Amino acid sequence: MRVLISVDMEGIAGVAVPDDVSPGTSDYERGRHLMTREANAAVRGALFHQPGAEVVVADSHGPFTNLIPEVLDERAKLVRGRPRPLGMVTGLEGSSAAIFIGYHGRVGTETSVLSHTISGVAIADVRCQGRSLGEIGLNAVLAGHLGVPVVLVAGDDTVAKEAKEAIQGVTTVIVKAALGARAAESVHPDEACRLIEEAVPKALEQRDQVRSLRFEGAVELEVAFHREAMCEPGLLIPGVRRVDGTTLAYRAEDFRVAFEVIRLMAVLAGTV
Ligand SMILES: [Zn+2]
Repeated sequence: MRVLISVDMEGIAGVAVPDDVSPGTSDYERGRHLMTREANAAVRGALFHQPGAEVVVADSHGPFTNLIPEVLDERAKLVRGRPRPLGMVTGLEGSSAAIFIGYHGRVGTETSVLSHTISGVAIADVRCQGRSLGEIGLNAVLAGHLGVPVVLVAGDDTVAKEAKEAIQGVTTVIVKAALGARAAESVHPDEACRLIEEAVPKALEQRDQVRSLRFEGAVELEVAFHREAMCEPGLLIPGVRRVDGTTLAYRAEDFRVAFEVIRLMAVLAGTV
């Protein structure tokens, strides 16, 4: 059995403001320890369920270099750095289950800690077949497309709601109540780790009952940007059309292609 644990940072217990997740600040140095500890709790839970399982932890926030390798549980492998295939969920292929730790709400979510979709400065919305998807939804649909159940998602209370909308049968762990985009009432980091460690084995046991939202066949993709200039570099991608001043559209042959085009548009938007 192989378990992929994708770890973002905004949804970690004790994290509430941009300094907590932004390299170069003293609060960030604390935040990356908290992040590594929650990752370790998930590793312990996975190995309790299946001793000897292959556990891969993918560092999935910002530069993808936040988790502290020597503090990570020595039984896990670490995916670090970027760019890399499949972004936040590198290692999905060949996995028996996936777990999302420290995840956050999609852009536009009301009262959600540090919510955004891929790029807080560039992206105003991502829609597939007209349905708005954040990082939870995009990564979960891709996992479903590749036949991998996302069994557990941890983060604030809005994350739990968004996860349940995208993944039928998913287990959620709420480590904080969102009080705003930059405020939270959080459990203690040790309590968050206990909750995750306890929930992971049960979630893995039920993995046959988990179903991600699916898009069959071609996917109509729309990506809205905050500014016109961020939208325009995406027109360099063959087949991309402009819907209005700040919105691009693309018809992808399947969801995996849509997923890669979204990532490419975000990279290009970051060049202006
Ligand atoms: Zn992040």
